[in-house]
Amino acid sequence: MRARALVKSCGIDAAPVDITKFLAAANAELQYSDRLGSGTAGMTIPLGERNLILINEHEAIERQRFTALHEIAHILLDLPSRHDQDVDSGGMFSYVRRPPEEIACDTFAAECLLPHSLLQQDLGDAVAGFEFVSRLADKYQASLACTASRVAINAPFACAYVLSQDGFVRFSTSSPAMRASKFFVTSRIQVPAASITGQCLKAGLRTGSGQVAAHLWTSTDDFEDVDLMEDVRFSGVWNQALTLLWIEDGDLPDLRGQRSIDDRAAEEPLLRELDGVLPWPGRGRRS
Ligand SMILES: [Zn+2]
Repeated sequence: MRARALVKSCGIDAAPVDITKFLAAANAELQYSDRLGSGTAGMTIPLGERNLILINEHEAIERQRFTALHEIAHILLDLPSRHDQDVDSGGMFSYVRRPPEEIACDTFAAECLLPHSLLQQDLGDAVAGFEFVSRLADKYQASLACTASRVAINAPFACAYVLSQDGFVRFSTSSPAMRASKFFVTSRIQVPAASITGQCLKAGLRTGSGQVAAHLWTSTDDFEDVDLMEDVRFSGVWNQALTLLWIEDGDLPDLRGQRSIDDRAAEEPLLRELDGVLPWPGRGRRS
């Protein structure tokens, strides 16, 4: 919510978002450096009232933009940087043992880079899958992983995004409809071997898509006879897989009317644990 307020106060009204407006709000200036090690995406040096943000000039532009906003989050949220632990665990974009302060700053940065207010317009004609996410990533100058996460959080249909690393689920987000239906991807589990992601991992494939049983991704019995569409892209770095999951027929009529639930769920980007209550509407099931 702090990030959304900042987006509004900075007058952000077009994609790609103008990073200089956020820098001004944080009383910060940006410098590109060739002296930061390969595990360091960026850092902030306080200079009295001002802040100097150093960005690794060897990183791709979408990562530089994310890193600048991540550093701005540290400044505005007054959260101490724990990048030393990032380096130990493989770098800023690795999800192994990422400290909670860093995840908070990531969430803030992602909201600024792909603001809810702008995404709402783009997601009006969204098509589930990475083709659409990739187009949006280009428009917002954001990474595919960050864009997929933000699309899943804001999507007007039932979908989820899963980031796995070294074959284990590390992070996931899901749309209001998915959260309202209590579909939560179990965290820290091994990537299901029978999923498209699991099959691609085994075969060494970089992309894949297809239909799978929903219970592969969630441990709840009520999803036993529901099918999901799955689309996966592998990232060359840190052995990460980006997976999108969605309900193909997409018309969850019992959920679409529940705007108040959707709105509440939209403010809750981090996933809760399964609570075993699954009021599934009874459509989108396998015959
Ligand atoms: Zn940080």
